[in-house]
This record gives sequence, structure tokens and C-alpha cells, in this order.
Amino acid sequence: MNRVGRALARSIDTLCYVSFFEEEIVKAIVDETLCSGCGVCEEVAPDVFTMNDAGLVDVKVDPIPDDLLGSAQEAADGCPSGAIVVE
Ligand code: SF4
Repeated sequence: MNRVGRALARSIDTLCYVSFFEEEIVKAIVDETLCSGCGVCEEVAPDVFTMNDAGLVDVKVDPIPDDLLGSAQEAADGCPSGAIVVE
């Protein structure tokens, strides 16, 4: 293999290494100033959101596991106050 080939092989190795170890981290963020405490998010995604003693929402998982991303986004979409962002 010539010099260009070796350099290309090293670049490909680096790209494979980065993509293998790079994980997308998704979090749920609740804006408590917008939250009305209706509890819809807890009903839709009880493994992600829970109501606390103050009547506000706590996020139970950080980051959100892949298997809960759908329900977390559904809760965000269904929040009547637009208080949840999943990103
Ligand atoms: S659905 Fe929205 S407004 Fe209702 S408790 Fe959850 S974050 Fe608050």
C-alpha cells in the first residue's frame, strides 16, 4: 500500500472509531414556568415523567433511553402548555 493508501486507511479507521463510540444523547427538559401541573405527561410517559409533591414534573431518566424516546416525544407533543422539549 502506498503512502496515500495508508493515509486513507488511517482516516477511515478514525471515522469508524468515532461513529462507533459516538452516541446521541437525548434529554427531556421541562420549563416549570409554563407547566400547569395537569399530569398529561405522566399519563402518556410514566417511565419518563412523574409529578412531584409540589405538583410539578420531574424527569425520571436522563438521558432518555432509546426505548422511551417515542413516549417522551408523545408526551411533549401532548403537553397543553408546550412546556416539554425533547432534544
Ligand atoms: S403535560 Fe405539560 S403542563 Fe401538564 S404536567 Fe406535564 S409538563 Fe406540565
